[in-house]
Amino acid sequence: MEIAVPHSTTHHEPAHWRKKHYASLYVRFILLTLICSVLPLLLVGWGIYVYYSEFASERMVEYFQSQVQHHERIIELFFKERVSDLQLIAYSQSLEQLKEQKNLQRIFDIMNRDGSFFEDVGVQNDQGKHLAYVGPFDLIDKDYSQTFWFKEVMARDVCISDMFLGYRKVPHVIVAVTNSEAGQKWILRATIYTDSFRSLLEDVKMGETGEVYLVNTHGILQTTPRFGGKILDKIDLPMGAFTDRSGIRILDATTNDDGRTVPRQIVAYTWLNDPKWMLVVKQDYSEVFQQVNRANQAMLIFLHISIIAILIVSIITTKHMIQVVKDRDEEADELNRQLVQTSKLASLGELAAGVAHEINNPLAIILTGNQVVRDLADEQTDLEAEFRSQLYECLAQADGQVLRCNMITHNLLRFARRSKSIIEQVNLNNCVGEVIELMEKRAKSSGVTFHRNFDEKLPQVRTDASQLQQVFVNLFANAIDAHEGKPYGAIHVTTRADGRKGGVEIAISDTGSGIPGHVLERMFDPFFTTKPVGKGTGLGLSISYNIIKNLGGEIRVQSSVGEGTEFIIFLPFTPPETLAGSSYERGV
Ligand code: ADP
Repeated sequence: MEIAVPHSTTHHEPAHWRKKHYASLYVRFILLTLICSVLPLLLVGWGIYVYYSEFASERMVEYFQSQVQHHERIIELFFKERVSDLQLIAYSQSLEQLKEQKNLQRIFDIMNRDGSFFEDVGVQNDQGKHLAYVGPFDLIDKDYSQTFWFKEVMARDVCISDMFLGYRKVPHVIVAVTNSEAGQKWILRATIYTDSFRSLLEDVKMGETGEVYLVNTHGILQTTPRFGGKILDKIDLPMGAFTDRSGIRILDATTNDDGRTVPRQIVAYTWLNDPKWMLVVKQDYSEVFQQVNRANQAMLIFLHISIIAILIVSIITTKHMIQVVKDRDEEADELNRQLVQTSKLASLGELAAGVAHEINNPLAIILTGNQVVRDLADEQTDLEAEFRSQLYECLAQADGQVLRCNMITHNLLRFARRSKSIIEQVNLNNCVGEVIELMEKRAKSSGVTFHRNFDEKLPQVRTDASQLQQVFVNLFANAIDAHEGKPYGAIHVTTRADGRKGGVEIAISDTGSGIPGHVLERMFDPFFTTKPVGKGTGLGLSISYNIIKNLGGEIRVQSSVGEGTEFIIFLPFTPPETLAGSSYERGV
């Protein structure tokens, strides 16, 4: 058990109340830090997430729209140019000229001068019969009167067909225009090399899953998509969902007829004017939002790490703060206890001084009276010898008791005295050594031996040597007394420097009876003693405490019953300034 200063009897807040207080302080502070830092962080994170997601989807829509528009323009321009090529020929040449095989061949070569746009060209009458034909196929005798494009061109004067196999059994597109001479319509028709615009779409690589293709109104593929299906296949798209001129649709994940799962996809589309085809730009939803998802994931990780960091820092700072509060509370308690003890000592000291002073005079009178009686008895020669010896014995006893009272009053006065300290450079090893030498005899008679563990390099201390010796006498006397009933024992006296606290320590440990808790609590109180009447005055420790405090030091005790006690005195290298006014300086 250890106490630093004597316990006062004042009522303190119970320990469990303090514990609860610290626990609630801890929880409140952590909550407050979390609310003040994590909440704004979450809000900012949420804001960034919402803003960034919106921004990313807008960008995505813009990107798809630009892709669709870009390809739409290319294809429409391509067909427009082919139609105007044919129209230019149809309107600049007469039927007679065009029917001439040689001339048609020359025109066909001119048509393909800037690249291979046309595969063949033919002139037909309003019965769907070829009047002339230039190209690799043997189509001169074919009847086209029942073909869909023939009907359309006759009705609209211009026709761009869907992809179809036709007589040649190869997917192709034809462009046809009409002109009329003498009330008779004739048709100029050409087959288009679709490879150029097909490769424009079929070779497009948008990420891992992006593709661009064309379908007609019946959902028949006009180009071969990058994934699944080929030209002239029926596309697996809900055509009913694409009624607007253009737009963006999100298709949910589905399972195909062949058991293949098609992930969620984004489809951007636009309908071309002529031919009436739908241009589709399609990509997996997950790929489109891959970057966004990655950014969001990174932000989530960052958020988590930040929150954990804040939590750890707030726990550490809170713990530190509570420790500071605890230390301050303990310091306040300590000061409070010291104050109580000091004021108790002060008032008791004054009382004691008064009592001692009052008693000293009667004691002196008693001593004088005794001496007068002794002198009178000496003069009386006729006194009986036995009576005389009894009288002398009584007088001696009375003298003895008066001297004891004197000693007590002397102690009381010393306890109360406000005498000035004499401050000088003191070698504590010598100071305590002298006291040990003095008391060694008394110790030996009780079977107790002193052991010196002195720090030879102990720095000197500015303090009051004689007051200190008084303290050592008290402590040694108590240590020796504590061995009562034991055949032998030891008192270890250790001196050491304490650079951290700026002073020296003297530890006095004994192998005596030890001090039970209830005594520990009160032993620094004046007049508290456990010793029999006549042996202890109960002033030793309170005087010692007073002296050490006065010199700016402190006194601690730790003890275990049956094993022994250790008093540790700390003294600063220089006494406190408050002492300066009430002290003499010697040998500075
Ligand atoms: P006194 O010695 O006159 O009793 P003190 O103030 O010096 O007065 O001591 C108060 C009490 O503290 C003692 O009566 C004793 O019970 C206890 N005490 C002090 N020092 C020791 C010690 N070294 N071992 C055991 N008890 C001690």
